[in-house]
Amino acid sequence: MAKNRNIIHVPMEEKTVLLHTCCAPCSSAIIEAMVQNGITPVIYYCNPNIYPYEEYQIRKNECTRYAESLGLEIVDGDYDHDVWLEAVRGLESEPERGGRCLRCFKIRLLRSAQYALSRGIRVVTTTLASSRWKSLDQINEAGRWACAALVGENQLGVEPSKVLVPPVIWWDQNWRKGGLQERRLQIIKEYGFYNQRYCGCEFSMSHDALTSTEPSLISSGMDSRE
Ligand code: SF4
Repeated sequence: MAKNRNIIHVPMEEKTVLLHTCCAPCSSAIIEAMVQNGITPVIYYCNPNIYPYEEYQIRKNECTRYAESLGLEIVDGDYDHDVWLEAVRGLESEPERGGRCLRCFKIRLLRSAQYALSRGIRVVTTTLASSRWKSLDQINEAGRWACAALVGENQLGVEPSKVLVPPVIWWDQNWRKGGLQERRLQIIKEYGFYNQRYCGCEFSMSHDALTSTEPSLISSGMDSRE
């Protein structure tokens, strides 16, 4: 593990964080930085958006390999792609960073916040925020929405002293700073992570990839997402 170059502070000085993970490349430097700062991430792999299932398994296995190499807990969320498809119905032709992606983030981060609550973990963040392909604003909007949704009711009009604080807090750390992007590339090489070439859902794949069921072919001819 490289020498710590990045000091990070968790909201409320919590020592355990629920880290939603999308893939090993995006997780790599974030997890390392957390560990080096004395933070224990409980890694939650919750990505029902990924298509096909074989691709989901490959990405999950890479996350598991990395977590286990560091002795960290990784939890597998449900893969219910049909439910995810239903949730994004009507948004299929949206471009990346559009309405479908915001909905996708909300689905995954709500489940992450719910899982954190079930474990008594008070802070949630995501590795999605490290990807230059995604909108940080959308990710933070979805994360705040997910934590607020745990309160269970709209608090507008409630007397200020009685407004409930969400039981789980969204941590909007900018994971693209502090040398983490450079470190990410080093770890990807070190571990030889799988080279994924599209975001995850079928709507982010090229036509050629969509008509193939081979993960190796799915990756062909597309820009690397690492
Ligand atoms: S492009 Fe990526 S973030 Fe957007 S809906 Fe598809 S899987 Fe989700």
